[in-house]
Amino acid sequence: MNRNATKSGWTVEDAAELYRVDSWSDGFFIVNERGHMAVQPHGDDALSIDIMDVVNEARRRGISFPLLLRFQDVLRARVQRLNQAFADAIADAGYQGIYRGVYPIKVNQLHEVVEEVIDAGAPFGLGLECGSKAELVATLAHLESDETLLVCNGVKDRGMLALILAAQSLGKNVMPVMEKFGEFEQLLELAEEAGQAAQFGVRVRLRTGGAGRWASSGGYRSKFGITLPELMEVIGRLESSDLEHRFALLHFHLGSQISDIRQLKQAAKEFAQIYAELLARDVPIRYLDVGGGLGVNYTGGFEEGSINYSLREYANAVVSAIKEVCDERGVPHPTLVSESGRAMTAHHSMLVTETVGAYRKDQAQQDFVIPNDAHRLVKSLSGTLEWLRAPGPGEGAVEDVLEAYHEVIEIHQEASTLFGMGYLSLDQNALIERMYWSSCSAVLGLLREAETGQHQQILQELEEKLVDQYLVDFSVFQSMLDHWAIQQPFPIVPLERLDERPTRRGMLVDLTCDSDGMVSQYVSSNEDKNFLELHELQPAQHYHLGMFLMGAYQDIMGDAHNLFGRVAEAHIYADAEEEGGFWIEKVLPGTRVQDILEQVQYFPNDLRRRVESMIKAKIESGEIRPKRGMAILDQYMACFQEETYLVNPRGVQEQP
Ligand SMILES: *Cc1c(COP(=O)(O)O)cnc(C)c1O
Repeated sequence: MNRNATKSGWTVEDAAELYRVDSWSDGFFIVNERGHMAVQPHGDDALSIDIMDVVNEARRRGISFPLLLRFQDVLRARVQRLNQAFADAIADAGYQGIYRGVYPIKVNQLHEVVEEVIDAGAPFGLGLECGSKAELVATLAHLESDETLLVCNGVKDRGMLALILAAQSLGKNVMPVMEKFGEFEQLLELAEEAGQAAQFGVRVRLRTGGAGRWASSGGYRSKFGITLPELMEVIGRLESSDLEHRFALLHFHLGSQISDIRQLKQAAKEFAQIYAELLARDVPIRYLDVGGGLGVNYTGGFEEGSINYSLREYANAVVSAIKEVCDERGVPHPTLVSESGRAMTAHHSMLVTETVGAYRKDQAQQDFVIPNDAHRLVKSLSGTLEWLRAPGPGEGAVEDVLEAYHEVIEIHQEASTLFGMGYLSLDQNALIERMYWSSCSAVLGLLREAETGQHQQILQELEEKLVDQYLVDFSVFQSMLDHWAIQQPFPIVPLERLDERPTRRGMLVDLTCDSDGMVSQYVSSNEDKNFLELHELQPAQHYHLGMFLMGAYQDIMGDAHNLFGRVAEAHIYADAEEEGGFWIEKVLPGTRVQDILEQVQYFPNDLRRRVESMIKAKIESGEIRPKRGMAILDQYMACFQEETYLVNPRGVQEQP
């Protein structure tokens, strides 16, 4: 434990504990002995890659930041773990059927991600899932084997249904899932026209609702799914045309990020009962598809709303609930399908960003020069501050400190009032402001020292007041959409200096001009999750932060708020033979200013023409020289080629 202890008595283990790394990383990330975050691409200690080595290599190669790192090996390992969990659960339970996962590409449609998942899943017969026309078009082209299952969810128009039928006539295992009764009628009609018997599945609405944030995607209020009376109607229609044997898959989806495993078990039992009933009516369902919802524990904790099970427990729950019902009803064990997207992709990508600067309220210089003719409030606050900084012997009892704090608050308020009425000058008001924050900081120090365990409320109030703002080169709306939309916390950890005690408490704000553009909930072992413990910034030195578990939904959904576009991206492969244990396979540059502007219909030629005529007018009127005017135009045009984020915001001189 003390092996890495530094002078401050702080170890890298303390850092791992503070940022709860072991709890959320599932073995894929650690704090290494250099005090850096490292990735273990295979999910164990066989190989570890120092993320700062990757960052430095990227800087040497001139790759821009913020930078999204994709660890392709992590993606593969997640796919394998999920499939292995089901294989083990099936073997242990003596389940007679098999498991065939499908990857719902909506979680991350990036072509390389999909290809990597398909490749890693091939030994397990992994299939795909699509939920829209564009996703159907993308996935159809990836059904190399005729056995590979493609589950088509979502609302489908005639064109999509016809395309699905065409793929079936090619011998592909494409399964349109009927979300609405009307869709089923349309499919039958189209199949008849084509002289084909369509294979299909049905999404049922269970009584068991979902839990947590996506509760409304399951249960009777859900947007999609066929009700039980409609299901009876479907069967009637099939029986009258001898098509029962084409009804091959039964599907339900409780919603993403199921938090309580008991809910899943209950749903799976209800679901298996429906299956058994259908079999009794000679509808030979082959696949039971339990949808998505396999959760990721982003906070590494057991708070309200976090998930209470592991991959293996999830697989056990599905297998055992369905087996139990099948055995009771004496029906065969079907092939199990799950559409687990989040659990496969979340871990593999992370965002590396840089802090641009920190705004510290108590930082203003410590020595205050009080002019002789200072306002009485200034003099009075100065006296209180002096006392707070060095209470005499026998003084500084908690009661005295609190009394001083109340005085400080009163002076601050009175100063605001007087300033508003014009009775206090701007520079004196500014002086009060600075002394006010120094006083708050001194009060906090004294209360912490006293450790009475009382006055928690004041302590917390002060801590929140005094939190620093760290400005970070990223956009919440582009890279962490779920944090803004549904307050999902993501683990954020400094990538370096983890062998140093973090002495500041910070709140991260992004580059957008939106007051929502900030991180308001953190993953840490602090009771108070409204701030993150961070290191003091050093002048002209990078301070990189890593934002983890970004691979599901975040890096694909981003919204171009304030016209910050996609970030640059690098794909990293592990290789023990290479220096640092890795190599960068591919770099995708971030969105350029020109690209993002074109998306909202601003075109370079037009913009150029406008600025040019503005400049020419000034040249003609003699306000600027022609040469200077043209240089300004060049300067303007050069920005079109830049990426939308900041270039070297801390002015760091890179080592050649
Ligand atoms: C979104 C969705 C999924 C993926 O869910 P995860 O919780 O990410 O695994 C699967 N199936 C359907 C029908 C979905 O809508």
